[in-house]
Amino acid sequence: MVVLLREDAAPEQRAEVAHLLAELGAHDPISLPQESGAWLLYLPGLTYTDAIIARITALPQVARLIPITTPYALASRAVHPDATRVRVGSVVIGGGEPVIIAGPCSVEGEDQMREAALAARDAGAHLLRGGAFKPRTSPYAFQGLGLRGLELLAQAGAAAGLPVVTEVMEPSLVADVAEFADVLQIGSRNMQNFPLLRAAGRSGRPVLLKRGFAATIDEWLLAAEYLLAEGNPHIILCERGIRGFDPQTRNLLDLAAVPLLRTLTHLPVLVDPSHGTGRRELILPMSAAAIAAGADGLLIEMSPHPDAALSDADQTIDPSTLRAIAQLTRRLRAAITDLPPDPLPGRDGEKRECGTSSAPLPEAMPSLPEELIGSGY
Ligand code: PEP
Ligand code: MN
Repeated sequence: MVVLLREDAAPEQRAEVAHLLAELGAHDPISLPQESGAWLLYLPGLTYTDAIIARITALPQVARLIPITTPYALASRAVHPDATRVRVGSVVIGGGEPVIIAGPCSVEGEDQMREAALAARDAGAHLLRGGAFKPRTSPYAFQGLGLRGLELLAQAGAAAGLPVVTEVMEPSLVADVAEFADVLQIGSRNMQNFPLLRAAGRSGRPVLLKRGFAATIDEWLLAAEYLLAEGNPHIILCERGIRGFDPQTRNLLDLAAVPLLRTLTHLPVLVDPSHGTGRRELILPMSAAAIAAGADGLLIEMSPHPDAALSDADQTIDPSTLRAIAQLTRRLRAAITDLPPDPLPGRDGEKRECGTSSAPLPEAMPSLPEELIGSGY
């Protein structure tokens, strides 16, 4: 069970419930703030006897107890029937308008990053990406510019007026990366790096959690649960393909995960067609498919000079393709607005998760500010 406190509960009243739970369960509960101002308190392992339920629900600041049937209580739709919106500056991820994160695979230098940032903005991106710490399969491949890369990324983002997203690979570097980045990315190879998840969760920064390339949906949601369990509600999932058997594509982009996650979790879901396919000619059609499947946005590798990229050149698109994707994305999103919010129940008539059937559509968010939209729209 998760305890939902009323929105008007004072901090002392929250402490009172936390104290009671700690007494009952012999350790402190997790506290997770909600966008509404309410709080969730969760004490894993506590058995809710009738007597305990009566004591907790007798407190006036308790709105209700939410029964949970999944191992990922805090990520579950049941605790949060409305979609979570993650705010990054003035951009809202999960608010109804698809968000585009674009930029090169790696930060390579000052001019490269600045040019890419301006091109991303002008093509219609809302956030800028660029890797400073690169998880490369070979130790001899370009490893990224490290801390210097973070500075260049932040400068380029500031010059273009775009918040920045970058990967962090080590717990000891979370504080440094959080100083420069608006969103911390946890890469596919690190989805189950539990010390890293804990450190990123504690940073309080929004975290973009990529799916491990061999991870099940449940493992992915449990990785998100690590972040939430540190009290960080600003979590974004990103489907980036799982390992298939056919070398024609780098990965198998699992777009069924998008509507499936909608039923399982309240967290926003992005799609990365770049790593998901590995081929630049597939990025536009798979971006369209991702938006049609209900993705909250896209993460795309883009450079004004794709062939010159030091990493992932094959999957890097140019600014004019990004512009076409941004335009298509808006048209597609408008076209699917009338679709029902939840997929129909499975054949056995059962939803795999509780509490999803009455989940309302997330309210449309107000249009993004003109300066973030760029002339490409
Ligand atoms: C990236 O986004 O640059 C990256 C390395 O992605 P992934 O972790 O999905 O491979
Ligand atoms: Mn890459």
